[in-house]
Amino acid sequence: MELNNDHLDKWLKKRKLRKAELNHDDLFQGIINGHVQALSSAITLLESSKSNDKQVARQLIQSCLPYSGQSFRLGITGVPGVGKSTFIESFGVLAVNRGHKVAVLAVDPSSEKSGGSILGDKTRMNQLSQMTNVFIRPSAAGESLGGVARKTREAIILCEAAGFDFVLIETVGVGQSETAVHSMVDFFLLLMLAGAGDELQGIKRGIMEMADALVITKADGDNRKKSEMAKRSYQNAMHLFPPNSNEWIPQALVVSAIEHYNLDQVFDTIDRFQNQTMVNGWFEKKRRMQDRYWLNEAIRDALLHEFYANDVIKLKLKELEARVVNNELTSFDAADEMLEKFKQIRNED
Ligand code: GDP
Repeated sequence: MELNNDHLDKWLKKRKLRKAELNHDDLFQGIINGHVQALSSAITLLESSKSNDKQVARQLIQSCLPYSGQSFRLGITGVPGVGKSTFIESFGVLAVNRGHKVAVLAVDPSSEKSGGSILGDKTRMNQLSQMTNVFIRPSAAGESLGGVARKTREAIILCEAAGFDFVLIETVGVGQSETAVHSMVDFFLLLMLAGAGDELQGIKRGIMEMADALVITKADGDNRKKSEMAKRSYQNAMHLFPPNSNEWIPQALVVSAIEHYNLDQVFDTIDRFQNQTMVNGWFEKKRRMQDRYWLNEAIRDALLHEFYANDVIKLKLKELEARVVNNELTSFDAADEMLEKFKQIRNED
């Protein structure tokens, strides 16, 4: 393309417009008026590493906070290939048809390494992504789980302020990301395959214990019967788990996202959970617990960052590591010395 004056003019105007859109007041107005473009730009700011962007993002979250909290937050996990995207596509369409505004977010700290493994490929959510009242956003990339989780949590606040009342958060059932997602949602859904065996699916008992419902996917064709059998055995296994403090008995369901089989059962189960936990007070209690958890996580992250990013600390740590390895110093004494040094640096600041 030849870059003549006309083009340049247009480009500059567009760029100016884009920049202007990224100020706090315009974005905030856009978000609370439900404009998806403003929401999307705000999340981009959240993910930016520039300090100015970060500052605007922080102000935006602060402004949006009073408008947040009004959605149902649903976590969805399961190993790659279990059918998460297909389920979210069908289930999301059902939710929109039931009158909800649906946001889909993801927590996938591996997304940069694997080239955007989940939600990156929106064609897998073809119908859903084209609906109005739907917002789909892939995971922030290239960061630690802590960083990605924090950004997703902040994105939830922005989505809620924009009027999305049903927020789906997808994560891959490997590693620690389920725990992070579990601690930011109201209901945690574990997708599983019939007959693949727990070990094969990488499902640890701890993850099953976190689930409020277990959904056996791809219950169509020859697989239907096998799925029903798997459902019964999971149901029996779940009866042996210690009772939940929220009085909810986790459910096992069979679903075919492709044939839209039993999707409304999932919806009704979530409805029942919501009613029950709102009446018995658990819903609010859990949200407050989650707020406390994330406050402490944020403090821990900030402290660790400040400690390990400090140049004096870096040098001193190297020196003490060598002495510990040479048996000149115990690791405990070295740690004490490091913390003393850190305190000293802080007092000098
Ligand atoms: P993800 O990696 O967990 O997101 O899984 P996908 O949604 O990408 O699905 C993996 C494969 O399973 C794809 O080939 C889907 O077409 C297939 N699949 C997903 N849901 C169903 C279902 O309900 N029935 C059948 N038969 N296949 C399904």
